[in-house]
Amino acid sequence: MHEVAITEEVVAIACERAQGARVRRIVMEIGRLSTVLPDAVRFCFDLCAEGTAAEGATLEIREVDGVARCRVCSASVALTQPFGYCVCGNTELDWISGDELKVILMEVY
Ligand SMILES: [Zn+2]
Repeated sequence: MHEVAITEEVVAIACERAQGARVRRIVMEIGRLSTVLPDAVRFCFDLCAEGTAAEGATLEIREVDGVARCRVCSASVALTQPFGYCVCGNTELDWISGDELKVILMEVY
């Protein structure tokens, strides 16, 4: 469960940016190609946030599709899972995005 470490990191980033204010809401993006399970992050968020400025905050997770480029025809391919194939039939794809994990928005009060 590396989600615990990731969630602790998200809480730490949010608290640091809040600069002493209370965090009301955190919106993060998790790429569908990452190995992070959004449900697991949601599950441990409350525990990780306990005792910090983010305690009681709402966590919103947006899952984003990945994008890859076909090595044969250079077409871009949308990926919802770590593997897939191009319309040309090729399965050799280079990931362009989709394994990212970032805090995109937060509200403080
Ligand atoms: Zn192709």
